[in-house]
Order: sequence, then C-alpha cells, then structure tokens
Amino acid sequence: MTATMLLLTFAICRLIVTVGLITLDPSELLRLRVDGQLTVDQVDLEAASLDFGMLGKTEPLAVLHPGSAQDVARIVEAGYRSAHGFTVSARGHGHSINGQAQTRNGVVVQMSGEGRAAPPRVAVGERYVDVWGGELWIDVLKSTLEYGLAPKSWTDYLYLSVGGTLSNAGISGQAFNHGPQISNVHELDVVTGKGELLTCSEEKNSDLFYAVLGGLGQFGIITRARIALEPAPQRVRWIRVLYSNFSAFTKDQEYLISLHDLPASQKFDYVEGFVIVDEGLINNWRSSFFSPRNPVKVSSLGSNGGVLYCLEITKNYDESTTDIIVDQEVETLLKRLNFIPTSVFTTDLPYIDFLDRVHKAELKLRAKGLWELPHPWLNLFVPKSRISDFDNGVFKAILSNKTSGPILIYPMNKNKWDQRSSVVTPEEDVFYLVALLRSALDDGEEMHSLEYLTSQNREILRFCDEAGIKVKQYLPHYTTQEEWTEHFGNKWDRFYQRKMEFDPRQILATGQRIFRPNF
Ligand code: FAD
Repeated sequence: MTATMLLLTFAICRLIVTVGLITLDPSELLRLRVDGQLTVDQVDLEAASLDFGMLGKTEPLAVLHPGSAQDVARIVEAGYRSAHGFTVSARGHGHSINGQAQTRNGVVVQMSGEGRAAPPRVAVGERYVDVWGGELWIDVLKSTLEYGLAPKSWTDYLYLSVGGTLSNAGISGQAFNHGPQISNVHELDVVTGKGELLTCSEEKNSDLFYAVLGGLGQFGIITRARIALEPAPQRVRWIRVLYSNFSAFTKDQEYLISLHDLPASQKFDYVEGFVIVDEGLINNWRSSFFSPRNPVKVSSLGSNGGVLYCLEITKNYDESTTDIIVDQEVETLLKRLNFIPTSVFTTDLPYIDFLDRVHKAELKLRAKGLWELPHPWLNLFVPKSRISDFDNGVFKAILSNKTSGPILIYPMNKNKWDQRSSVVTPEEDVFYLVALLRSALDDGEEMHSLEYLTSQNREILRFCDEAGIKVKQYLPHYTTQEEWTEHFGNKWDRFYQRKMEFDPRQILATGQRIFRPNF
C-alpha cells in the first residue's frame, strides 16, 4: 500500500469514527485520486481550524491541498454523492473573523498556500487576468504589473485570496469609482455543491455567476476568476487632511464620491477616512503615515474631546506627468473642502507601495506581538441619511473616544454595485462602510478584554436597531436562520432558491452558519 493510500485510509477511518452514527462509504473516498494532497496531518488540521479572528476553533477531518480545479470537483462530488455526505469548505488565507472558512465533520479545501494549481495568465490586449481562486491579491498585482497593468478595485490589505474577497465584495477607497471587486470580474470557474465544474459570466450560467459574487461561499468554490485590468499608475500622491467637525468631514467625503463620473483629472482615485484617537500603536496602526516625519498631536489641532476625523485621498499618476499638473489637480479639489487648514499631510510613493501599505503595519504589529490576537471586528454598512446619528450614538456615546483599534469610515455609491449579486447593502444611493477593527488585549484592563469589546459590539447593533438605523453587516456573522433571513431581506428568497439549485445538500461553507447540511 502506498503512503497516499495509507493516509487516505487513515483519513477515512477518522471520517467514520468522528461522524459516529453517520457512516461514510470508505470505498468512495478510497477511489478518490487527487493531483494535489489530501491530508490528515495534525499541522494542516490545526491551521485549517483557526482564522484571523481567533475567536473560535473548529477542526476538520481532513485538508485538501488541491493540485487542480478537478481536485476541488472530486472532493465536492464525493461529499455530495456519498451515501451520507460530508461538508466541504474552501479556505483562502483564513482571514475571516468568525470561523467562516472552517468546517466540522468535513474537508477544508486549502485554496491558498504553497504551490498554486494554476499561475496567473495576463491577456494584455483584452486587459484581464485569469487567476486561481486561492491566489492572493498581492501576487495578482505583482503578476499584472509585469505587463504595466493592474486590477481596478482593491481591498486595503492584499494578503487575502481572490475567492475569499469575491465571496464577500472586496472594498476599499476605489469602490466609489469602480465599485467593489465583485463589480470588476468578467468570468468565473466554479465547482458547485454537486461537484460540477462550470464556467459562468454575465452571459453564461449567469445565475451561478451572480449567486457566487458576494455569495459567502454558499453556491460553489471559485477555482478561477477573470479580473478586469487597467493601465497601472506608476505613482501615488497620498494626502491626509483632518477635521474636528464630523458633518464637515462626511459632507466632503460625499462631495468627493459624487464626482465619480467625471474624467480622472477632476476627481481623486481613492477616498477613505478614519477616526483618530491618540492611544498608541494598537489603535492607530492604520495611521503610521503621520510618523515619524509628520507626528500628529491630536490635542494641538483643536479637536473636540480628543477625536479627529481624517480624510484620506489619493491621486494616481505616471512619471511622465509633471509635478505641476499633479499639484494643480490636487489643489483644485482640495480648495473645495473644509478641513482644518493647517492639517494637510502629503506623501508620494510608487503605486505598489501604496496598495501594499497595510502589510507594513502588519509587520510592525507582528514585531510587537500585537497581530495574533483575538479580533472581534465589526463591519457595518450605514445609510448616508443616518451617519450623523451613528456618530452621535456610537463614536461619541458608546465608544466615548476609546477605540481599541482603527475605525475606518468612508462612503460608496450604490449604483456601482450590481444588484444581481448576492451581497446586500442598505437601501440608499450612498452608504458608508464603518469598520471597527479592534483587537482584544489580555493586559488586565477590562476595556481591552474580548468580553468587553464583544459586548460593546452587541450594544452598537442594539443601538442601531432601536434607533431604526437600517445597517447591514459587511462580512456578516449570524447564527440563526431568522437572522440571516432578515439580513438578506428581499434577497432571501432568491438566495434560498439558488442554494437549493447549486448546493442542494447544503454541504458548502457551513462555517457561515446559514444552512445546515441535510444528511
Ligand atoms: P477565508 O477567510 O479563507 O474565507 C472566507 C469565506 O470565503 C469562507 O466562507 C470561505 O469558505 C469562502 N471562500 C474562500 N475561498 C473561496 C473560494 N475560492 N471560493 C468560494 N468561497 C471561498 N475586506 C474588504 O472588503 N476590504 C478590506 O480592505 C479588507 N481588509 C482586511 C484586512 C485584514 C487584516 C483582514 C484580516 C481582513 C480584511 N478584509 C477586508 C476582509 C476580507 O476580505 C475577508 O475576510 C475575506 O473573506 C478574507 O479572504 P480569505 O482569503 O482570508 O478568506
């Protein structure tokens, strides 16, 4: 018997033992030949049982490192067809918060990691790149830059997988202009919950295409994505300006995103913002920009109660553009804004360094042991009409200037989101992302503890509910089907029907806790 056969036999024994009353047919899995590796190695099981959130741990029975899209299809088909079934969850880079890529009594398909099933393929003339579903965005960027091209829409952090962000939306400061990442995909290869490998796009298998985009992994595993590209800018003028007045801050953000249809020279390329509280590294790891050459003393800028709001904008340009033109375009836009006049911080850097900025902050936090901590993150889409109620009720009251991590806040245009996709956003034309990116510390201070932060998250959700602020969770986390039904609102029926069509045994991505496997 070969080592692989021994491993498989061991895996199958575990499947039988652990599932208990549910007996899987070992011969079905024994017949499974994979191009990659199906393993029950404890190191693999342990890695697949954890995620960035560090809030819970669920160990799978086995881990597949796929060597091809066919491997993914083989394992899902086995789960679907076997007499009693087993669950299958794709895992990209495991940067979920609440165990969304984990599964019990099933197999985790580790899509990202050493050795990829297919290298990126750039079509220069057509301006797209075909990438493996587990490819990290940083590697997508590096491969397209070789041809002077780059994707249009990003996340702030690039060590996330293509399949992982497309299962949610994928947003950053470019979303007001280009829409989320799911609005910038031409085509996908997807393994459905029946183990079929299908190509889908707006024209072909369109129901599957839109189901999968923002579909929380419920309808299939993305093995290939065709991503739209644009000529890559060479440099970025990166500007931050400060506000002590929240409504001046949001008014300016809303003005800037309203320019989305104007030519590139008349708008910024990226619009974000965040709340600044002077509280040390863990709270401001996203604002290292200011130091060491530009230290900011919040108190010196006339902030009200120690809180400032920072608008962050960029202008992309090529080295052939003169500084005078870049300066003029920036100046023309800045003149129309109402920030604190003495608070303009500017830097200039290569495009890749700007896009990869959060990784630098990660390295700093890692060096201080502040990266691998529990992360009770809460991401909300807040309708524009209620953002000032949110400021009063959450930033100024519930949090009362104690953030325990960065708070991002920036608006987006709903017309850049395709309503045929599975993702849900508030009803209004403009809505904000408010991201409370908090880390729990075990330093004896109650306000830093996981329990405190988790209960504060609940308080924020309760406040929104009672105040009638119709927020939608981004990267949603719920545990009952009633909550999920409410989350999806009028999209629920279609979501459910698509689930019945593409994953009728409900074996995929059970870590999202939307459906239970029906075996
Ligand atoms: P995983 O955690 O591995 O998986 C997430 C979900 O997607 C699971 O349900 C999984 O089953 C499913 N899935 C994974 N791969 C596939 C696939 N190939 N096919 C189908 N389903 C799949 N999000 C933003 O939009 N913008 C940001 O700026 C941003 N910044 C972040 C910064 C950090 C430091 C972190 C930790 C997260 C950030 N996120 C951001 C959230 C991130 O986009 C999501 O958590 C995303 O799912 C992570 O990708 P992943 O590859 O780690 O996915």
